[in-house]
Amino acid sequence: DVVVVGSVNADLVVGVDRRPAPGETVLGSDLATHPGGKGANQAVAAARLGGRVGIVGRIGDDGHGALLRGALAGAGVDLAHLAVTPGPTGVALITVGPDGDNSIIVSPGANARLTPDDVAAARDMIAAAAVVTFQLEVPMPAIEAAARAAASAGARVVLNLSPTAPVPAEVLALCDPLVVNEHEAAWLLGGPGEPERMARALLRSGPRSAVITLGADGVVVADAEATATIPSPKVEAVDTTGAGDAFTAALCLRLARGDALPDAARYATRVGAAAVRKPGAQTSYPTPGDLPD
Ligand code: ADP
Repeated sequence: DVVVVGSVNADLVVGVDRRPAPGETVLGSDLATHPGGKGANQAVAAARLGGRVGIVGRIGDDGHGALLRGALAGAGVDLAHLAVTPGPTGVALITVGPDGDNSIIVSPGANARLTPDDVAAARDMIAAAAVVTFQLEVPMPAIEAAARAAASAGARVVLNLSPTAPVPAEVLALCDPLVVNEHEAAWLLGGPGEPERMARALLRSGPRSAVITLGADGVVVADAEATATIPSPKVEAVDTTGAGDAFTAALCLRLARGDALPDAARYATRVGAAAVRKPGAQTSYPTPGDLPD
């Protein structure tokens, strides 16, 4: 159904009362190590929903790589194109403050070594997919190669423009949809605005369709025919980490199964809402039986 070309990271999380100033040391909580990375999160989320999912990515030859491989395999993701680079797996160094606020440093590690050759090696897997999706935690040349390979094989291209970075116009023009949250949309458009207007402005910037996620307020979808706002189910939010990744994964899976964009987005808001009801990213991802109405 879906091939994810993207990042594979270990999330190293420490709780702190406050962050150290330069030259200072503070004590934090015990370290928690979780499987993460936007690419791996999306692959796990789509697989847990019952999708046939493959990942194109790179891990290091360290313990974090083994952790990530185990998490992906446990969800049933095809690992034939998860390559191993000598050296460290990507990590996100995360401190969580007393209000639940995150500060994050990402060290890309093996993710930075993903190349167009890795994408070429996965040609057959990409050609067999209905949807190929990427985020921007891996190098742009690999993403460009994947977008071209997907388009020439007739697969639908979905780009989650996160974290924000300039994207070549050629890649943007293939996106169907481009998926962003409100901050990313404002970055692309040079400022915030009313969500439906922003979605139409995004469309004019090149993609075939656009989706803006609005957290608890749901999502706006826009294509050449229509613009619509779809509400999120009301749930008690415990931890929103990885909600956007769960949303995008579910959207890709339903598009792969033939849903129209608004129908796929409606389903994906239920998956995003389910993911905020539990702590963590991958640990919070639902099976089809766990979804709110
Ligand atoms: P990101 O995590 O990328 O910033 P959002 O916060 O927009 O993205 O969340 C992505 C999706 O997750 C939303 O469109 C929605 O479906 C779901 N979601 C996020 N926060 C909530 C919430 N508090 N209540 C219900 N659904 C939520």
